Amino acid sequence: MTSMTYRRSGRSGLLLPALSLGLWHNFGDDHKLTNKRLLCRKAWDLGITHFDLANNYGPPAGSAEEAFGKILKLDFKSHRDQMIISTKAGYHMWDGPYGEWGSRKYMLSSLDQSLKRMGIPYVDIFYSHRFDPNTPLEETMGALDAAVRSGRALYVGISNYPAASLREAARILKEMGTPCLIHQPRYNMLQREPEIGGAFEAADTAGMGTIVFSPLGQGLLTNKYLSGIPKGSRATTGKFLKAEQIEPQLVAKIKRLNAIAEARGQTLAQMAIAWALREKWITSALIGASRPEQIEDCVGALKAPAFNHTELAQIEKELAS
Ligand code: NDP
Repeated sequence: MTSMTYRRSGRSGLLLPALSLGLWHNFGDDHKLTNKRLLCRKAWDLGITHFDLANNYGPPAGSAEEAFGKILKLDFKSHRDQMIISTKAGYHMWDGPYGEWGSRKYMLSSLDQSLKRMGIPYVDIFYSHRFDPNTPLEETMGALDAAVRSGRALYVGISNYPAASLREAARILKEMGTPCLIHQPRYNMLQREPEIGGAFEAADTAGMGTIVFSPLGQGLLTNKYLSGIPKGSRATTGKFLKAEQIEPQLVAKIKRLNAIAEARGQTLAQMAIAWALREKWITSALIGASRPEQIEDCVGALKAPAFNHTELAQIEKELAS
């Protein structure tokens, strides 16, 4: 293991690496196992102990968990106790009325399926992937609590919860005796909802950590799209980042941010990660990668000097322009 730093998740006993690896993209059946193994091994060698999954990661849904199960057997057999593996349930997974959202029926069946796909008896963190406005929060949180009490999960988390629901979820879980470990929202220089909507503060007050996903804006906040849209990049293959979103005005903004990063002696990816981790309530930045070298570059963010006021103001000015 290397110079990774580890941060405590809220007021829990659990330390997470400042950078974690997510398996949302590049781990489906459309990618070779060889590269998936290289990505996980590179992350591990750099001190990334936390791997984040969800029932629906693929494509097809479930295939990322299957691939990760194979990687665990091939490469990490003796390391299970050194790893933090998370999965989630909330988005559409199977047909019929019990295949998505937050019912106890769906959440616990989905967790059983995830464990089977990965070939492990428990996950470290089981998440409610999204807030379900039509299911009593007590039921969804009760399912998380049951996951822990039955030994299928060690900790529980919530993802994409608005601040008010987060507060309520934290209260219910605390009363049940299974404190909520962590919140997982999207956060990067271009998408700042948890900061604006109060979810960061709410999680911190409730004693929870926060792990932010897509700190690189799916690759926008890197040098990848500075001069065109490279073949094979997520903007050409993914469903959630589209080439038409990458307009000249956005590229101009990214170029200005890149200049600030260069002046700090960093790549833009490194600056984006350092920026996402700049506040004390952020436990970890959850990145994705298609190549091992990207992970290496991202981990370099941790060597960066802290931002000074001038740099932060400069970044704000570019973001607002
Ligand atoms: P990022 O914002 O980190 O984007 C990752 C992409 O950025 C990579 O696939 C790669 O794009 C590019 N990239 C990464 N590093 C570099 C680099 N150093 N230089 C240039 N390009 C780079 O995160 P993701 O959007 O992938 O999300 C990360 C994880 O967050 C997911 O895997 C998942 O675990 C979690 N997540 C959770 C959600 C939730 O609802 N809870 C929703 C979405 C994500 P390319 O592939 O084009 O090379």
